[in-house]
Amino acid sequence: MVKNASVKRIAISGLWVDPVTEEEAVDRVRSFVEGGECLQILTANPLMILAAEKDDGLKEAFRSAELVVADSVGIQWAARLQGRRLEKISGIDLMERLCAEAAGRGWRVYFLGAAPGVAEDTARVLIARYPGLNVVGTHHGYFKGKDNVHPSEEDIIQRIAQAKPDLLFVALPTPFQDGWIHKNRARLNAKVAMGVGGSFDVISGRLRRAPVWMRAAGLEWLFRLIQEPQRAYRMRGLPVFLFKTFGARPSKNT
Ligand code: UDP
Repeated sequence: MVKNASVKRIAISGLWVDPVTEEEAVDRVRSFVEGGECLQILTANPLMILAAEKDDGLKEAFRSAELVVADSVGIQWAARLQGRRLEKISGIDLMERLCAEAAGRGWRVYFLGAAPGVAEDTARVLIARYPGLNVVGTHHGYFKGKDNVHPSEEDIIQRIAQAKPDLLFVALPTPFQDGWIHKNRARLNAKVAMGVGGSFDVISGRLRRAPVWMRAAGLEWLFRLIQEPQRAYRMRGLPVFLFKTFGARPSKNT
């Protein structure tokens, strides 16, 4: 069920995206935190939409997420084919906006994911940037080890639930993180959970973000590809998405 949705969602390849501005997304989160409800935010891109075709858990995550924002020019183009406008909202920008909001409102924030030490560095950077940010926990994202050193996934879920975060940021690989949040959201005890992919690596300074002009030109993906050439294999789905989207122009009523 779509809660708080005032404008009709835009259907893309059988899934959907919310035509919200960044400001409206923050408003939506505010009402969920204050209403004590649980909200999952998805930051959609073409590779996620394609992955959802073959992954029922991810498809379900898309269908039940209360807020799906467009984090890619590919999604903007697909919406434009239906005569709809979508603002591109980068996950990392929305995360920062929400941290600013959290600092002002005393919300409890938890950072889960990335390599050991990165979530802690991310918290340090964001506390310096948004004084008063109430970080109630951090943990790295490599918790599946069979050794006795790393806590199990179950331990981590319990730790998060005990910390009762208002905002839970999950920096695991995309789109695994979104299926993971969906699968565990009933037990995470977080009011809002959002997958943020590699954002901790950028905020903590381990990876650079694309310069503003590249972001404005919709080329952030190219910058990441140059920094991490191993991503090329994952991006092979992009032409498939474009072909499917442009090949099957949906009607305005879908
Ligand atoms: N990561 C993790 N646990 C894992 C594998 C990856 O926490 O088992 C982290 C990784 O360190 C990175 C984040 O997940 O900070 C996002 O991974 P990646 O860059 O591969 O995905 P994307 O940015 O495309 O979502």
